[in-house]
Amino acid sequence: MMDTSEKIFVAGYRGLVGSALMRRLEREGFHNIPKRDRSQLDLGDERAVQSFFAKERPAIVIFAAAKVGGIKANNDFPVEFLLDNLRIQNIIIHSAYETGVRKLLFLGSSCIYPKLAPQPIPETALLGGPLEPTNEAYAIAKIAGIKLCQAYAREYGANFISAMPTNLYGPNDNFDLETSHVLAALLRKAHEAKTRKARELAVWGSGTPRREFLHVDDLASACLFLLEKYDSPEIINVGCGEDISIRELAELICAIVGFEGQLAWDDTKPDGTPRKLLDVTKLHNLGWRPTIPLRDGIAQTYEWFLKNVAH
Ligand code: GDP
Repeated sequence: MMDTSEKIFVAGYRGLVGSALMRRLEREGFHNIPKRDRSQLDLGDERAVQSFFAKERPAIVIFAAAKVGGIKANNDFPVEFLLDNLRIQNIIIHSAYETGVRKLLFLGSSCIYPKLAPQPIPETALLGGPLEPTNEAYAIAKIAGIKLCQAYAREYGANFISAMPTNLYGPNDNFDLETSHVLAALLRKAHEAKTRKARELAVWGSGTPRREFLHVDDLASACLFLLEKYDSPEIINVGCGEDISIRELAELICAIVGFEGQLAWDDTKPDGTPRKLLDVTKLHNLGWRPTIPLRDGIAQTYEWFLKNVAH
């Protein structure tokens, strides 16, 4: 078992992933978790981050800080997705090494894999072909992060590991329709369509792409599991092993929210990659399983949305 008095720094602790990690760590009894919000520590400011690490000397770092967004934001702002992500991950990974961090967990994304990767996608598919153009910039930044962790492991023996989560959802997700991912966007749209008594709900693309969704509390559980049990620089996928089409997702969300109108497909918006299902054999063989069924997780996220965003 990990020692709950060890100092853990969660970079990005207020985000979807970071806040789930904080809930989980606190529940497990970890109490030595320095918090700095954006106004106290700019993760893109190399000097500020270096002096934070030198002062706090965390034993463990979980890298959950990133500029993230849905298909539209990624497609519209490649410069920011590339530059901001490269900058903060370079600064944090390097600072972690310089101050002797005992273990670092870098979180990537399933979009690092080639657009036409074999499905389900094994870890070995990395760099086997061209990326999906709508999120190439973000993917390139994440691939650089993985390679930097592997380089620190190879050259300096650092225990820097990298996990690749599938599409995530849950409390503290971004519900802004321009920049959010599909699940949060459809929850909001279905809620608003129901409230306005609208007849239609606009869904982007064709509805045929398939995605895998993991509740962020399951990801947090997997992260702690990996911190305890996994010490290899080889990347490891984190998912539930099941995918659904965007059409099925939209129907499920409408049923949960109680919107009874029609779906209207907006084919001026991109579909993105046709399918993204991770092969999670490696993580399953180590003994980890998710526990939150999709329907329950969406219902719980809708409750959170009603309390925190909709009112
Ligand atoms: P991706 O997994 O990187 O493609 O990112 P998203 O979660 O943003 O999009 C997943 C799929 O959902 C794509 O095929 C989108 O076209 C589709 N989609 C349908 N409606 C929406 C919506 O309202 N917002 C977003 N972001 N995606 C949508």
